[in-house]
Amino acid sequence: MYLVFRCRKCGRYIYARDSNKTRKCVCGYTNSLNRVLVVAKVEDERLAAELVRQKQGSGTDFVRLG
Ligand SMILES: [Zn+2]
Repeated sequence: MYLVFRCRKCGRYIYARDSNKTRKCVCGYTNSLNRVLVVAKVEDERLAAELVRQKQGSGTDFVRLG
């Protein structure tokens, strides 16, 4: 399973395998997976990546590249 969640520091949506303990965000903050607010759990990594892309589109200060 893959967990989709927001970085506790910068608010970006990211995903990680649920077997992992931590996930480091691009902002440099290391999120402990047992302390994040999980917004979705999916079986497929491609689906997790797709959800992140969709959610990233609005409601954050995420800067699109190009
Ligand atoms: Zn972050």
